[in-house]
Amino acid sequence: MKTWDVIIIGGGHAGCEAAAASARYGAKTLLITHKLDMLGVMSCNPAIGGLGKGHLVREIDALDGIMGRLADQAGCQFKLLNRSKGPAVRGPRAQIDRALYKNAMQIELNVTKNLTLLEAAIDDLLFEKERVRGVIDDQGSYHHARSVVLTTGTFLGGIILRGDIRTPAGRVGDPASTILSQRLKGHGLDLGRLKTGTPARLDGRSIAWDGLDKQFGDEIITPFSSLNQSINREQIECGITYTNSGTHNIIRERLSESSVYGGKISSRGPRYCPSIEDKIVRFADKDSHQIFLEPEGYNDNTVYPNGISTSVADETQDRFLRSIRGLEEVKILQYGYAIEYDYIDPRALYPSLEMKIWPGLFLAGQINGTTGYEEAAAQGLMAGLNAARKSLGEEPLILRRDQAYIGVMIDDLVNRGVTEPYRMFTSRAEFRLSLRADNADQRLTQWGIDHGIVASNRAQLFHVKHKTLTDLKCMANELRLTPNQAQKWGIQIKLDGQHRNALDLLAFPDVSRETLIRIWPSLASWSDEFFEQIKTDALYAGYMTRQVQEIEALKRDEALKLPHELDYGLIAGLSTEVREKLTLLKPMTIGQVSRIEGVTPGAITALLVYVKTQERHKQSQKVLL
Ligand code: FAD
Repeated sequence: MKTWDVIIIGGGHAGCEAAAASARYGAKTLLITHKLDMLGVMSCNPAIGGLGKGHLVREIDALDGIMGRLADQAGCQFKLLNRSKGPAVRGPRAQIDRALYKNAMQIELNVTKNLTLLEAAIDDLLFEKERVRGVIDDQGSYHHARSVVLTTGTFLGGIILRGDIRTPAGRVGDPASTILSQRLKGHGLDLGRLKTGTPARLDGRSIAWDGLDKQFGDEIITPFSSLNQSINREQIECGITYTNSGTHNIIRERLSESSVYGGKISSRGPRYCPSIEDKIVRFADKDSHQIFLEPEGYNDNTVYPNGISTSVADETQDRFLRSIRGLEEVKILQYGYAIEYDYIDPRALYPSLEMKIWPGLFLAGQINGTTGYEEAAAQGLMAGLNAARKSLGEEPLILRRDQAYIGVMIDDLVNRGVTEPYRMFTSRAEFRLSLRADNADQRLTQWGIDHGIVASNRAQLFHVKHKTLTDLKCMANELRLTPNQAQKWGIQIKLDGQHRNALDLLAFPDVSRETLIRIWPSLASWSDEFFEQIKTDALYAGYMTRQVQEIEALKRDEALKLPHELDYGLIAGLSTEVREKLTLLKPMTIGQVSRIEGVTPGAITALLVYVKTQERHKQSQKVLL
């Protein structure tokens, strides 16, 4: 019987990226999934990227992963989100043509060296002396491996809920992984339950598009992959409409039909992707919610109404959808539903994503309590890489929090666990000024090259880009002028006698590129791409020193005690989510606060400032008395 280096179970976003990474590393890899023609399917929204998520896609790409390149091949509307804000929080996003993405994924995996694809359902793990040594399929066949990566997504113990109907399924039209769930429990593993949901799919031909607002993509597309300079494909537009008080009344009357409000399940769903039922209950004072009508592709009439996932009964979905402007005559192609599934507490994992109790078994994606394609793919890449290394007898590789969002996410998961589906946000990273989407390749590609997961074509391109950037920065460093000379060119700076170089001046927001070229004509040879990159690096250079100092100070404050009677409602700068958690958990120290899931570095700073100010206030009152 053949023994594979690595077997990956599941062909979702985690599984595909894990398989590609393991094979790229040189491990003989077998990907087993229920249906090979479903590789590359997007279970929910036809989009990749966004705030925080776009950073993950860029990092996957920097490590030569596949998601960014495929999204570039399949994107039908690209947008750089937060364009008006600082580069650190800008997130690339694209609406995706589902058929193009699926096709691109299948071509990619079929031609990947060292990778074999197999269609089968896996029912059990194979153990040898407490170590996982392979898997057993539903026909009783054994598949042996040195490492196994489990990426079962929403399929493990999956149950779809819609009105009163409960159907075991991994997503609509696909089987649940029920036996595997039972076997894992039988081996003594604790499984938790989480839920998520999806909206109905609409027939675009039945939508009255005229009169609806439109959303367009960017005129100049920012690709996900650093291998792509530009994308010139035609972009499609989305429609925008809104729920209204009539819609809300229909849903309110039928709340008992929904999975959560009907008491059918009690598991937590993604806070940041609430169902329309959740929105109506949680934001009762709002009588309208925005809906983006997103076409699912160039040659597809299906429309995804983003913002109204639901699990009420079919008849109620018909009624509430038709109460919305533009959807009065809408034809529903597939009804929305909720899905509840098993996950494993990620604190059971090492940062390598290997299970502590079962050496040789790695977990990635939704099974670890995350939500989203990008989060799944990023974990898949690391799990695939580490599974491959383990099979070859090598030590695991871990990305740190200050190196990558991937590091932030895995550190959060394995140390803090999850109480609700985990989604990436830029606010989760304390080093977000340096962890930008624009510099992902500069941060990570050399690391990837050093550790053998970057192919030679990307490595070559990276070296050329890196050398050019370094040379241009050195050159800019040498171009200097005094404050008086600067003033002659119309630049207002302090007359402190200090020379400024071109990098310093690039960081001045009101100094234009044209002015700099007039002073130093050699800068005219810089391409737009390099100019923007060097300008952004220059802009953040000063802040980053301060960021490191702030983080050091935070570490020193870990032991600071919090008064038991602290009223978190009085602290400005805390989100409702954080306030609720702190009020409930009553942490005793800042250190404890920092380990609570969902508490951002910004929230810790706000809390610190408040507690210290209160303490100083108390001290000064004592002195007065
Ligand atoms: P999946 O994409 O679920 O893939 C799992 C794969 O494993 C499948 O290929 C399956 O066939 C295979 N598999 C499972 N068990 C076995 C087995 N025993 N043998 C062989 N193969 C097996 N994300 C969001 O960010 N926001 C949302 O609002 C959102 N809503 C969602 C709504 C629904 C209804 C669903 C189903 C998903 C939703 N998602 C949402 C989640 C998103 O689809 C997942 O985060 C992402 O797909 C997870 O990727 P994954 O690779 O972990 O798992």
